[in-house]
Amino acid sequence: MPTANARTLALILGDQLDASYLDTLELDRDQDVILMVEVTHASEAPPSHVQRTVVFLSAMRHHAEALREKGWRIEYVELSDGANTHSFAGELGRAIESLKPERVVGVLPGSFSVRSEIEEACDESGVEMSWHEDPHFLCSTDEFGKWASGRKELIMEYFYREQRKRLGVLMTDDGKPEGGEWNYDKSNRKAFKSAPDLPHARTFRPDDITKRVIEDVAGALPDLPGRIDMFEWPVTRREALAALRDFVEQRLPCFGDFQDAMWTGEDKLYHSMLSSSLNLKLLNPREVVDAAVAAYDAGEAPLNAVEGFVRQIIGWREFIRGVYFYEGEGYDDRNALEQHGALPDFYWTGETDMRCMGESLRSVLDRAYGHHIARLMVTGNFALISGISPQAINDWYLGMYVDAINWVTSPNTVGMAMHADGGVVGTKPYAASGKYIDRMGNYCKGCRYDVKQRTGEDACPFNTFYWDFLIRNQDRFKNNRRMTMILKNVERMDGDQRVEITVSADKLRDRLGVGSIKG
Ligand code: SF4
Repeated sequence: MPTANARTLALILGDQLDASYLDTLELDRDQDVILMVEVTHASEAPPSHVQRTVVFLSAMRHHAEALREKGWRIEYVELSDGANTHSFAGELGRAIESLKPERVVGVLPGSFSVRSEIEEACDESGVEMSWHEDPHFLCSTDEFGKWASGRKELIMEYFYREQRKRLGVLMTDDGKPEGGEWNYDKSNRKAFKSAPDLPHARTFRPDDITKRVIEDVAGALPDLPGRIDMFEWPVTRREALAALRDFVEQRLPCFGDFQDAMWTGEDKLYHSMLSSSLNLKLLNPREVVDAAVAAYDAGEAPLNAVEGFVRQIIGWREFIRGVYFYEGEGYDDRNALEQHGALPDFYWTGETDMRCMGESLRSVLDRAYGHHIARLMVTGNFALISGISPQAINDWYLGMYVDAINWVTSPNTVGMAMHADGGVVGTKPYAASGKYIDRMGNYCKGCRYDVKQRTGEDACPFNTFYWDFLIRNQDRFKNNRRMTMILKNVERMDGDQRVEITVSADKLRDRLGVGSIKG
């Protein structure tokens, strides 16, 4: 670390790679210093997929280089730097001691624990610290708080409609939703009848900076899960913009129709693959939405596809982030369904004879990626209905996906997938039997289990666990109107049928490594 003092020390975290943040932080090139730190800790607890670690570090190094070229003074601590203490707090303390700044500034981190660590380090060093609201998001934490406060339920669809109106996206001149409907989800549930003929998605092979990051990660963190040889993620804004163009031209037109479909060996289908670029802030949500709407205006993509995509960006993504900050610290620890099962080893190895799980996990191990239906209705659904602890599966999602950061992972996992927040994110649990997976893809045809059976050696585990889940939670959901029809099927079961399912589910949990779900 050099000794020339700084007026302001500005923190740029690994998911804050938009150059416009420097304006937000009101920095002065002549007096201020930017601190960027690579730490092993961020990849160790929980263990991070090697591609996730490489994406963050490579994008950070590219960003730092671009800022240096523009004349900014950057203090950059690499993973392989012998003096690296490998904690944000340690490196911040070292920088404060060396640069003696009058203050430390940063953009609000997307993780409560990172925020606390930084604040404590500043407290210990006796330096004033201030946070700025993240301008990347289209709905600030205050705006979300105002929308949410006093509501009995936080319904994403209502939030989304407000966003459409406020931002003027897919609205007619007389204030109506484009096409007359707010939501075209009912058109977006097609499955493939045969192997789909998919467009090739643009990929980005490692450049020299990424290759050096890969070497550094292999040296400092040799045991990270996942494959690195399939790395193809955008790590610069230029690459991210190319990925956006590629999606809008090649895949957006069919994105809506097949957004819930699954197919063996096809990990990307018509999905955008833009979430890591958005979450690293290489792309801005407004430009992404504008590109999709422009394709609709030009007659190049249908409304059901564009509306479905727009809803993901200005609806779901902003809603999830709003929930994370609105609900506050402790949200991650919720366990409303009181499930304490272990995360089976096959989540880390992909070795399972359940074909849907094997395929979904292979995609994660190969690419640090799974599309939203594989995440919610296969790996998430399995965790929910088998009784895995929400904290164990939340850690797995946080570590294993290239786009994972606490603000996005916690509400999606603890809330939406696991219903462990007691219904804040979803008004009913996303529990499904093998029938749903069979309807939306071709996994069941080659599976050793029988998707039509509920109990027995060959029964689909999703069926056994689904019915066991409903039996276990019958009382809990008896007043939930959205569960009434489903629970009627449980009410019709006689005592012997219930016992058979419960005993089968317990045996299956033991065999698959979930174990007891009691705390
Ligand atoms: Fe998955 Fe069950 Fe279908 Fe096998 S039969 S692929 S375990 S849903």
